[in-house]
Amino acid sequence: MARKQQEEAEFEAMTRPLEGIPLPDLENLPDYERGFWEGTRSHELRIQRCSDCKKYRHPPSPMCPHCHSMNYEWPGTNGQGQVYSLVVVHHPVHRAIGEKEQVPYNICLIELEEQEGLRIISNVLDVPQDEISIGMPVEVTFMPTVDDPNVVLPMFVRARSD
Ligand SMILES: [Zn+2]
Repeated sequence: MARKQQEEAEFEAMTRPLEGIPLPDLENLPDYERGFWEGTRSHELRIQRCSDCKKYRHPPSPMCPHCHSMNYEWPGTNGQGQVYSLVVVHHPVHRAIGEKEQVPYNICLIELEEQEGLRIISNVLDVPQDEISIGMPVEVTFMPTVDDPNVVLPMFVRARSD
């Protein structure tokens, strides 16, 4: 019984962003990243899109890898996607993760609906971590970090089936 309880605790759901790890410096963002973080602060998942060939790209970058245009825009997305790949991390890779006993945690690569191959790294919350699976439909939610409430992270939860 003790062993069973331990196994369950090992994979309990993440419920919030990791604490104590490096965050973006919102005062000194390059212009090509600003739209993303302004979006999350207003609880919108805005993904950089080339103004010329209209292909999305993430993470943000100054130049379109498809047509080499330097022009971009920040349309909102519907926040829907699916788990493309995932890992559950048991070994703390940063001191704060060990000190604050934040293992295990998951890192998920989420493929967004807007474009094939458009993927964002995030965490899946509120799902026992051994139940997160490739192909699982998810949707975005937004949470401020504890360390800097101005930094709002896009996180993902199981998609509501409606
Ligand atoms: Zn382009």
